Amino acid sequence: MTNDQRSTTDDSSTPHVVILGAGFGGVGAVLELRDAPVRITILDKHDYHTFQPLLYQVATQELDPTEVGYPVRDLLHRHNNVVFHKCEVNSVDLAKKQVVVDGMSPLDYDYLVLALGAIVNYHGTPGAAEHALPLYTMNDAIRLHDHILKTLEAVDKEPKLIDDGALSFCIIGGGPTGTELAGAMADLLHTELKADYPNLPIDEARVIVYEHSPHLLAPFKPKLRDYARKALEERGVEVQTESGVAEVGAKEITLASGEKVKTHTLVWAAGLQANPIAASLGIELAPGGHVPVGPDLQIKDHPGAFAIGDIASTTEAESGKPLPGLAAVALQAGHYVGKAITHIIAGKEVKPFKYHDKGTMAQVGRGAAVVELPKGGTLTGRVAWLAWLGIHLHLLSSAEEKTSVFVDWGWNLLTHKRGKRIILSDEDHEESNS
Ligand SMILES: Cc1cc2nc3c(=O)[nH]c(=O)nc-3n(C[C@H](O)[C@H](O)[C@H](O)COP(=O)(O)OP(=O)(O)OC[C@H]3O[C@@H](n4cnc5c(N)ncnc54)[C@H](O)[C@@H]3O)c2cc1C
Repeated sequence: MTNDQRSTTDDSSTPHVVILGAGFGGVGAVLELRDAPVRITILDKHDYHTFQPLLYQVATQELDPTEVGYPVRDLLHRHNNVVFHKCEVNSVDLAKKQVVVDGMSPLDYDYLVLALGAIVNYHGTPGAAEHALPLYTMNDAIRLHDHILKTLEAVDKEPKLIDDGALSFCIIGGGPTGTELAGAMADLLHTELKADYPNLPIDEARVIVYEHSPHLLAPFKPKLRDYARKALEERGVEVQTESGVAEVGAKEITLASGEKVKTHTLVWAAGLQANPIAASLGIELAPGGHVPVGPDLQIKDHPGAFAIGDIASTTEAESGKPLPGLAAVALQAGHYVGKAITHIIAGKEVKPFKYHDKGTMAQVGRGAAVVELPKGGTLTGRVAWLAWLGIHLHLLSSAEEKTSVFVDWGWNLLTHKRGKRIILSDEDHEESNS
């Protein structure tokens, strides 16, 4: 009998846990439950776990996609109670305790872990959905990676494109994603790409970050925001705060002030909303379409159905504070839910979820980062970058994954070499943008 048959057999008296999403939340839950007395079915539309915090490194050719996407099936070897299916989840019927999936019969569950993450939010900005490049999935990162190279190839053939804004790389959003991407793009353009395209006036290339609030990295302490801004500016990044984008076109953006900026590249790093599957639950959702949960991360009036990570609106029981959309929050919630399910099955008490804050951080270019420690301390520069590295390695799921990423990072750092700078898809997805 295969794993598949074992886990999907209806007549088993073993409780069936269905985990939707193999991101940080889903992986945390499966790691906790894979030796528990349950049958687990985990579903994801990709056959790999995406390490989102490093997507910008794929986009800027520091890491290859296979170093940031980890095969889900590798996590399940030697665990007979788990089956994985690569498939699209369409809806969840909380009343029937059933999940509707593309290409499969509806799946009944005893326990549900809803961990489908978030999607990009363009806040209704005209033209953004058509022309902006988001950075939330592996495909987004590969698309941006290819777009940068295709743009440079085009300008190398036709230098007049520079007057049309082809070397202006614009980023909307000065939160951690926009800040990290800006630093990495500036490093990329002014080092390797300068060498790859000796005939291009790469020094004329601009990286511009637009942030509608007065500060980059708004949730961080003022000292860290100032450090990040200075570190970006030293790398040649132009930072425009209190500057929002009103409209996005194929070759031009219009700022809230009315000013028009010619560009062929507009990266959207300015907001997320909960996965729209949340709307299929038929419950009242929190702002941003998030699923409200109680202190034990269960959905009100639906015992056994848990929502975690970026799809959920989670308030820490002890402090009453809303928890941020971070990988560590989702991963810890996944582990918590795994334990909670085994406790419920064993008739034991389930204590409220408590998040253990290990600090918030952002990288602002090679060897520079800002870190805000849980008790209020701060780190900047190379020490902060090493802390950033350690925390991110800690988030990786398996020893093999940690080793491989560590070796690649270490090698890139020592040799100042990047991933392979080749166009990965010759399909011209972004024809209208370049
Ligand atoms: C660019 C970027 C940088 C970030 N940097 C950091 C950082 O430095 N530190 C940090 O702590 N956090 C960071 N985050 C946030 C962090 O990655 C998220 O908070 C975390 O991934 C949330 O985990 P999750 O399990 O809720 O969702 P996800 O990790 O997004 O997982 C959701 C999973 O659901 C799957 N899925 C979605 N819809 C469907 C469907 N309909 N059917 C089937 N499968 C589906 C997806 O394929 C995905 O695998 C970053 C996020 C981004 C986008």
